[in-house]
Amino acid sequence: MKLSRRHFLGLAGSAAAGVLTAGSDDATASAGPSVSPDAVGCLVDTTLCVGCRKCEQACNERHGLPKPQESFEELTVLENERRPDETSYTVVNKYYPKNIGSLTWRERPTFVKFQCMHCNDPSCASACIVGALHKTRNGPVIYDPEKCIGCRYCMVACPFQIPAYEYHNPVNPEVRKCTFCFEYLKKDGELPACAKICPREVMTFGRRTDLLEFARWKIKNNPGRYVNHIYGEHEVGGTSWLYLASEPFQNIGLPKLGSKAPPRLTETIQHGLFRYFAAPIGLYAVLGAIMWATGFTAEKENDACVVEDTSEEGGES
Ligand code: SF4
Ligand code: SF4
Ligand code: SF4
Repeated sequence: MKLSRRHFLGLAGSAAAGVLTAGSDDATASAGPSVSPDAVGCLVDTTLCVGCRKCEQACNERHGLPKPQESFEELTVLENERRPDETSYTVVNKYYPKNIGSLTWRERPTFVKFQCMHCNDPSCASACIVGALHKTRNGPVIYDPEKCIGCRYCMVACPFQIPAYEYHNPVNPEVRKCTFCFEYLKKDGELPACAKICPREVMTFGRRTDLLEFARWKIKNNPGRYVNHIYGEHEVGGTSWLYLASEPFQNIGLPKLGSKAPPRLTETIQHGLFRYFAAPIGLYAVLGAIMWATGFTAEKENDACVVEDTSEEGGES
């Protein structure tokens, strides 16, 4: 089969049209969100990224976010690891190689673009007691400021530390994160601004199932270039944003996480406690369990992580 990024971009229009036709069907059933087989995703090939920050700029401009103190042309900011916040839904970080191993590609730093992963079974939505965040059937995890009461449980629950809060806005503060440009996909099948602007075609937008196939094809046909792992295929029950890299992912800012979606664990606890009218206790138990299921285990697993051979058959973890 002949596959290329262009082939997948060709699918992007129809995938985006899928978002349009299926609308914003809620996917918050207690058994876990019901995600469409046509749900969209984005594959980030970090081996192509040169850290130009054009994706950051395009995202800020599309969403009317403020200009940063340092201009987007200033690349020294990449030397310090950053997180997305309420003024930047996506940031690019730079990681120097830690393990040369057998991969020739590791001779230069890896640049990694971060944003909300749009988890298949999102902890943020599970922790939100008023349903202000929800997973749509077609991929994006979206936020409704009208419902939000500002409790910020979503921030505690997210295993990727993504939701940010407008602390500086005393009148009408909102939670902020990458929207997957959902409103634009819905309107006219427009690509996410970051994917559209990227001069290196780091991001491929399309159906998640097609992207997984494309990622496997890339790994198979580029021996020595990638670790044999598609980040986000299984982590926390799968995510809409997927990553390829030439470094083990925990070396480039992506935490090592289990494949079980934290909400599947926490909702079991929640339902048990709520049945006995222990709502406040239930809430704290849910948040505690999410923290345990994500951050705590991730830290332990990271400590124990051994970097394995990165040949095509070997790969990471
Ligand atoms: S625009 Fe593309 S190449 Fe530039 S930093 Fe973003 S992802 Fe990397
Ligand atoms: S990365 Fe965090 S904020 Fe984004 S969908 Fe997943 S849990 Fe929610
Ligand atoms: S998908 Fe849209 S909101 Fe998300 S990082 Fe890209 S440009 Fe920003």
